[in-house]
Formats: sequence, structure tokens, C-alpha cells
Amino acid sequence: MRETKEVTQTVEWTSAIICNKCGRTCKIPEESGDLELQEFLSVEWHGGYGSIFGDELHCSLDLCQHCVMETVGKYVMVMGHDGKWQKWGDKPEGER
Ligand SMILES: [Zn+2]
Repeated sequence: MRETKEVTQTVEWTSAIICNKCGRTCKIPEESGDLELQEFLSVEWHGGYGSIFGDELHCSLDLCQHCVMETVGKYVMVMGHDGKWQKWGDKPEGER
């Protein structure tokens, strides 16, 4: 048997995502009609032995979709309706 009681905890809560490149800020919860938040690319990783970022460094990156397109967009692989992968930059202008 356990006895319980109510307690109040303080937790760290993400209140906004900010693009590391351009500074675009999306508040959480997402403002009505702002679909930019769900298009952010957010990654975290730890540099391993031989990493150019540094061994065992904790790295984090948040980029808005506009900066993703500007910096690596042409290398992004997209799957067509035929199930085949293709570099976004290789797609004909009319299919983008
Ligand atoms: Zn950006």
C-alpha cells in the first residue's frame, strides 16, 4: 500500500524554438495559423571520437524551413509518389 500527497514541481519547459541561422522565433504553443513550428529541423547529437565538432561535445541545431532550404535544400532527399528517392535539387522546376 502507498500513501500519496500532492506536490508542486518546477520543470524546464521549451517556450519557443529559435532558428540558429536567422533568428525566426516560434512560440510554443504554436500561435494560431502559424505552421512554421512544425517545419523546423531540430537535431541533437554527441560528437564521437574523431568528430570535427569535438569528442563528446553535446551539439544542438534548430533551423527553420527557410534556412534548411537555403543551406542544404538541394541535397535533401524527397520521396515521390512513385516511392523513389530523389534529391530535391534534381527535381524539375515544375515538380517542386
Ligand atoms: Zn531560419
